[in-house]
Amino acid sequence: MQNDALKVIPLGGLGEIGMNAMVFETHSDMVLIDCGLQFPDASYPGVEVLVPDLSYVLERLEKLRGIVVTHGHDDHIGAIPFLLREKALHIWATPFPQGLIQHKLTEFPGTHEAHFHVIEPRKKFRVGEFEFDPIPVQHSIIEALAFAVKTPAGIVIHSGDFKHDPKETSRGEITFRAFEEYGDQGVALLLSDSTNAEREGHTLSEVDIEKSFERILSQQSGRLIIALFASNIRRVERILALAKKNGKKVAFMGRSMHSYTRLAFEQNSLSIPEDTVILIENLGQYKDEEVVVLATGSQAEPRSALVRVAEGIHKDLKIKKNDTIVMSSRFIPGNERAITRMIDNLYRSGADVLYESVHQIHVSGHGFQEELLMMLKATRPQFFIPIHGEFRHLSKHAKLAKRAGVQEENVLVIEDGQAVELCAGRMRLAERFEIQKLPAVDNLFVDGSREALQQKHALAKAGIVFVALFRDEKTGELLSDPVVSTQGLLLYHGEEESVMIEGARAKLIEVNDEFGNRDDFVDIVKLETRRYFRKHVSYKPVVIPVVMDCVSQMKRS
Ligand SMILES: [Zn+2]
Repeated sequence: MQNDALKVIPLGGLGEIGMNAMVFETHSDMVLIDCGLQFPDASYPGVEVLVPDLSYVLERLEKLRGIVVTHGHDDHIGAIPFLLREKALHIWATPFPQGLIQHKLTEFPGTHEAHFHVIEPRKKFRVGEFEFDPIPVQHSIIEALAFAVKTPAGIVIHSGDFKHDPKETSRGEITFRAFEEYGDQGVALLLSDSTNAEREGHTLSEVDIEKSFERILSQQSGRLIIALFASNIRRVERILALAKKNGKKVAFMGRSMHSYTRLAFEQNSLSIPEDTVILIENLGQYKDEEVVVLATGSQAEPRSALVRVAEGIHKDLKIKKNDTIVMSSRFIPGNERAITRMIDNLYRSGADVLYESVHQIHVSGHGFQEELLMMLKATRPQFFIPIHGEFRHLSKHAKLAKRAGVQEENVLVIEDGQAVELCAGRMRLAERFEIQKLPAVDNLFVDGSREALQQKHALAKAGIVFVALFRDEKTGELLSDPVVSTQGLLLYHGEEESVMIEGARAKLIEVNDEFGNRDDFVDIVKLETRRYFRKHVSYKPVVIPVVMDCVSQMKRS
């Protein structure tokens, strides 16, 4: 690499929502901006989280100067502990994400040390050859940052996740002035959040949804249960203030609701009005119309507080008539079915449920088209790469960039693993790396190969049949009836499993008589068993055949 070149390599978050991780590399230094994880869809059965493939970084660890964090959402920090298993790291972050990372590390014993450096808005810091200027932006979590990075190839702006909400100034004014100033100086490259690039107009203000909450709180006749992301500290704070104003009591429900609010409170980032918070186990001591519960589980995550409430198995909260549940979050694609099932259960228990499509009770943390245009027009970059989004979001954002005046040939829509080199006022595609997501269970990597996942799908779809044949090693005769055992087979109505298994045994005796002396006998057993079940249950189960040739005097009667 030339001395004045910068390589930008997305390892996650481009071509998908989640697991954001971006490498900036010069001839001597490398820095990782964010290192997040993703929650898998149904194509990864049994997998809890997906981690970006960091081999590019792992193969060049001696160059890695550290990780710089834009904000504390899991899709930006969740994979950091996995990298700490490989190497001690310097991490630059504001206090809130730092606290969240430290909390996560308690679930990862034996990692290398994390050397934290506290970032403050607009206080520049150096990481190797790079100089970072942290610019505060608005998002659905506190302390969100964009970065203006001085690199050998010019100024690069990484937007992080952002929106622009001019009415929301509860903790100081946030403007686009810093971006405009950089625009005046000259921005070589802008990397900007594309999550909502398909949505026209401007996001609603948090201040506007406050009015909806005010109305709901002042009119409540039963208990109010508000489901939202625990990381949305500002919204939690707003609801607490409204509760105080309306003489209500608020209980927190769910593990992350407790941990996020505790951390924010300890760091003086959340004000909790006096005499407002009560314990969830004491709900019964207050009148229903006084009670507000802030709950996790807005995405119907399995085992989350709200799912347990909906299923009637939460120990402190049983739904009753007149309770109202407010779903103050978006239904993230992939979760809709679980969410609607949960909402149905809540209705069944007699509650009323309010959600975003019907009431103004949620706004996105990611800017809509007008806000994306604002970023483009403020920074006026020479080159533009849309980040954070599925391919259609990136493509849409690229079109916006042209509308904002960026030359068409200076816009690159790329996906994970595609390196780009910026040098001497030019940008070009560099190498392309094969990237695969790494699945993990209990914070440990598991086999995520195509074969392993295909097996998991086959097991789920068709069930499993275990077959064992014990034979006389000399004569090849069966020493006992074949053992046939099944799991997870769906039988046709009226069909009896015992009858089907009896038939399978008879079939296996025939198979042994006919093919018992063949070298590929085990394969034949597998094939014939699959065929037999194919005829009876119309799909081929996974068959595990065992053939044991034994020394024995015993003979099958
Ligand atoms: Zn975010």
